[in-house]
Amino acid sequence: MTEPQRERVLSGTRPTGRLHLGHLHGALLNWVSLQQQYDCFFFVADWHALTSEYETSGVIAANVRELVADWLGAGLDPERATLFVQSKVKEHAELFLILGMITPLGWLERNPTYKEMQENLTAKDLSTFGFLGYPVLQASDILAYRAHHVPVGVDQLPHLEITREIARRFNFLFRNTFPEPQALLTKSSKVAGTDGRKMSKSYGNTLDLADTPDTLRAKVKTMFTDPQRKRRNDPGDPEVCPVYQLHRLYHPDAERVAEIGADCRAAKIGCVDCKKEMVEHLITGTEAVRERRAAALARPGYIEDVLDHGNLRARAIASHTLDAVRAAVGLPTEP
Ligand code: SF4
Repeated sequence: MTEPQRERVLSGTRPTGRLHLGHLHGALLNWVSLQQQYDCFFFVADWHALTSEYETSGVIAANVRELVADWLGAGLDPERATLFVQSKVKEHAELFLILGMITPLGWLERNPTYKEMQENLTAKDLSTFGFLGYPVLQASDILAYRAHHVPVGVDQLPHLEITREIARRFNFLFRNTFPEPQALLTKSSKVAGTDGRKMSKSYGNTLDLADTPDTLRAKVKTMFTDPQRKRRNDPGDPEVCPVYQLHRLYHPDAERVAEIGADCRAAKIGCVDCKKEMVEHLITGTEAVRERRAAALARPGYIEDVLDHGNLRARAIASHTLDAVRAAVGLPTEP
């Protein structure tokens, strides 16, 4: 019996550095469960990395391999999901060009992320055509596969809306070619970094999937706790403490977590002991990730084979879409 056709899901990650617990709980564990139910396409967004990292592009190739190792470590299964590299499927670029012709400039200029990133990343010159146009590239990524769903957090809904608007405009101007992709809303799971702010590479506060147990122990040792708790005798507030958040995620015994919370409030437990207990559970809870990650890297040519296979599968589908796009627009079709 053949498996019924599964609906298609697409998402990607920019290869700009190691993935961390924020990525694991914010996206990857969700992807791992989606691959059971949907025909998932997950891509390494190396062209997207260029939109803001064009001055340090030399590290992108090495980051691709590590990123895919992180994905495999998290539990993505190349037998169930298609893992591929954006720049290996040139159809994304062709579709970007065609969609760029019909995307009004105002849609891009009013994109909230465009303004926000220009204001925040002042060290980089983001006044480029590529950066302004990246929502069009995102639309191309999604529409090249005629994806039905895109997993997004609430804050990314405006991006998906631009893709839906572009799809509608194309369908209106030419011929009904693209379905409007729907959001698969991902529960926001913001993991705090070691300094209590949102975990992010740019803050240097990450616990990485590739970190060894000793590195995790060293990082947790210096982790921020409740900032009001200056001395061992001061009562603490576990709700504002990033260490307690990780107890909740990784401690196998919920009763003990509640007890730690109560002991913190009553100043019966010190932060040093509390961290020691937490980090051992964190290490146990992420052991399978590190093992799968290391196994993927240790097999010669394995990651390259996974990507070669994924690139071919992705290309077959995207080139089929581009045939339909060229025909709809009235451009010569491929021989
Ligand atoms: S005792 Fe634990 S939960 Fe309380 S502030 Fe210290 S590290 Fe955080």
